[in-house]
Amino acid sequence: MSNNQELGITVSKDKNISEWYTQVVKKADLADYAPVKGCMIIKPYGMKIWERIKTKFNQMIEEEVDNAYFPLLIPESYLEKEKDIVEGFDPEVAWVENAGKDGELEERLAIRPTSESIIADYMSKHIRSYRDLPFRINQWANIMRWEATDTRPFLRTREFLWQEGHTAHRDEESATEEVIKRLEQYADLFQDLMAIPVLKGKKPEHDKFPGATITTTVECLMPDGKSIQAGTSHNLGTNFSEAFDIKYEDENQEKHLCHTASWGVSTRSIGALILAHGDDKGLVLPPNISPIEIVVVPVFVGDNDEEIQEYSEKVMEELDCFRTELDDDKNRSPGFKFNHWELRGVPLRIEIGPNEVENKEVTLVRRDNGEKTTEKVSNLDDKVEDVLEDIQYSLYKKLKDYRDEHINEAESLEEILGIIGKKRGYVKSLWCGREGCEREVKEKVHAEIVLTPFDEEREIPDEGKCAVCGEKAEEIAYFAKNY
Ligand SMILES: [Zn+2]
Repeated sequence: MSNNQELGITVSKDKNISEWYTQVVKKADLADYAPVKGCMIIKPYGMKIWERIKTKFNQMIEEEVDNAYFPLLIPESYLEKEKDIVEGFDPEVAWVENAGKDGELEERLAIRPTSESIIADYMSKHIRSYRDLPFRINQWANIMRWEATDTRPFLRTREFLWQEGHTAHRDEESATEEVIKRLEQYADLFQDLMAIPVLKGKKPEHDKFPGATITTTVECLMPDGKSIQAGTSHNLGTNFSEAFDIKYEDENQEKHLCHTASWGVSTRSIGALILAHGDDKGLVLPPNISPIEIVVVPVFVGDNDEEIQEYSEKVMEELDCFRTELDDDKNRSPGFKFNHWELRGVPLRIEIGPNEVENKEVTLVRRDNGEKTTEKVSNLDDKVEDVLEDIQYSLYKKLKDYRDEHINEAESLEEILGIIGKKRGYVKSLWCGREGCEREVKEKVHAEIVLTPFDEEREIPDEGKCAVCGEKAEEIAYFAKNY
């Protein structure tokens, strides 16, 4: 059994979350390091999780949005048309300068840091009339941003997978509606599928996506008190339409610039999923996202093994409406298998030994809290469904309670620093809107403003003053350390 020990997680999440995270990623078979620093190999089990996110999100948008694919290589002149894109991504772009027998290329090609420019160009060619609007395209693709430091699988990688939705609209109002609709869908994706509660809001002016008039975000609080930006949705105004000549003709044959928007969610969501629910035994997956909901483990004792096998197969049939795996490998001990599936976060284990066969029962073991119960096999699918629903809800509730306990209000710089230093989580303060006040916090405790609430969801008192400088408050800021 000493072997099992080595295969399992050897550090506690509370004591060293960074090392814990690395071990879970590797030992739960989610991803591996690649030869190029900052890149990762997403292993089949990790990819299955991404595929579930993909399937769910495609279902959410399919009525309105078509999927397409755009090239990996983007001519430098395209990026240069939108100066904010060039400036925003300048140090992070990887370039192809030499290729094949051509040798040095006449024009450098960027490995896409985002497809804004190439899709804007496409829109300019395909949008003619107001009848073409709203115009919506989504692509699932890989992206490269040459992050210099501190890369971590899923959380911060130079190459990652994402979806990027790009839309064009008649007016500001329609673009804003789109931005909020997709942000709400991201919130649902995290809350319903991954059991992770989110806060929705805007990024401060100075932290917007390059070229955006508004960047909105969903933020998740992780158990170490740091926030993760889990999905973003941007209103790009007419910036891209001006640069790429995206115009439509209205009912009177008059030409107008379109308002564009873009929205994305990436494999970073898997990093949030790992951090959010995992424990000292490894990954913990909410049933809705888990590639396997139930693992059935026959406990062979050398006697009546055939009967146990047959009974296990019957249980599998009973549960064929779930994503179920039968682990009937006779070469591995039950203990080994229990650890194996716990490490991979499978929400529910069903154990079947001689007693279960004799009593027409099964033993259920929950991954989230270790609770063990015995159930009769009749109507097993209904009972299992209830348990899975309860696991999904409990995981969400636990994080939501934690999140709600970690939103603290502060009225002075001292209080902000004190809360970030001691309790972590979010510190909610009145703020004048100036970057300089955020910088003071950033320099002292490495926390920044991760979001400001939407106008309709906030109340600023008439006499309200910025917690940092004492000037008139214009916004409410949520400060936090972040990933
Ligand atoms: Zn201030």
